[in-house]
Amino acid sequence: MSATPPLPAGFIPFNRSALQGSELKYILETITVGQIAGNQAFSLKCQTLLEQTFGVKRALVVTSCTHALEMAALLLDIQPGDEVIVPSFTFVSTANAFVLRGAKPVFCDIRSDTLNLDETKLGALITPRTRAIVPVHYAGVACEMDAINAIAQPRSIAVIEDNAHGLFGKYKGRWLGTLGALATQSFHETKNITCGEGGALLINDLRYTERAEIIREKGTNRARFFRGQVDKYSWVDLGSSYVMSDVLAAFLYAQLEVWPAIQAKRRALWNRYHVALAPWASQQGVRRPIVPAHCEPAWHMYYLILPSVEARTTLIAHLKSMGILAVFHYLPLHLSEYASRWGGKPGDCPVTEGVSERLLRLPFYNTMTPGEQDSVIAALESFHFPA
Ligand SMILES: *Cc1c(COP(=O)(O)O)cnc(C)c1O
Repeated sequence: MSATPPLPAGFIPFNRSALQGSELKYILETITVGQIAGNQAFSLKCQTLLEQTFGVKRALVVTSCTHALEMAALLLDIQPGDEVIVPSFTFVSTANAFVLRGAKPVFCDIRSDTLNLDETKLGALITPRTRAIVPVHYAGVACEMDAINAIAQPRSIAVIEDNAHGLFGKYKGRWLGTLGALATQSFHETKNITCGEGGALLINDLRYTERAEIIREKGTNRARFFRGQVDKYSWVDLGSSYVMSDVLAAFLYAQLEVWPAIQAKRRALWNRYHVALAPWASQQGVRRPIVPAHCEPAWHMYYLILPSVEARTTLIAHLKSMGILAVFHYLPLHLSEYASRWGGKPGDCPVTEGVSERLLRLPFYNTMTPGEQDSVIAALESFHFPA
């Protein structure tokens, strides 16, 4: 793939990555002290911040959310033939990380209000081979975690939160990322807090802490060696190279340490879209996001659900003609080319299929100016769907 071409002046992108201020200073520190590999000062700072903020047992920064999901699959000892329930409306890694261990992904439909895994459909999907359920807090709004845990716990099914959208969101006053055995975070460029490419594994179940460090360090007990707990390190388990470089951790820490400001900015942008677009949306039959009262969003994205796929196509073109890039989102995983081997067919997840065709994400990024947001709102208000 080639690099993204630069945007013309005045163009409003869907996402724009932004520095928070201390990134270069911290990166220079890693270089000056000569600690640029992993597990150094900035990685530890990021991990401590995550552990203290959320009260998780352990946080490990890793190379991506995809890799954190792969670590979760290794930690659960997922074996060929095991089944893992994932929403069909998600990023490919939610499923692929488990498929890499030989699991069969079982695709669950989503709720039509929050677009999250529909907990009322779980019962019918569980079999004696079900090993894990992987809820995704879509757009940063919590899944119905009490109901999901009530189904999983008595059956010893692990709950792994794919919390790529949900960092700093809450469910019934509890932080997302603390509601299952493990949770995975993404610091990809498109996420609220970023270092370009990166992730974290949050561990809530002490059973997994030591082995997670080993898996992250190529299957060796190198972490114990550095703590002086063993006098040489060796190959003790399966593993891979999931350690984040401290150069990236330095970038990440510059963002994480100002998370309240980032979240406040995104919350304000989200609320402004939501209030300003209410009259136009109701006239045009456009649905805005629904946030249940017991959920505090992580303000990851602002989306609209349009009346039809044709309406979406014409609206995307209209916005583009005004220099605004709005984009759709996930295609149903159960209908993907790769998933055809498990026999997915149209109609299996009807809510996912309908939403996937009609959902549109608006430009939304930490440095979005009021003027840019005004332009997006005005461009939408100037648009009327053909009758
Ligand atoms: C972004 C994302 C991922 C993958 O994150 P990476 O850090 O790019 O691997 C996984 N799941 C969801 C729901 C995502 O949005």
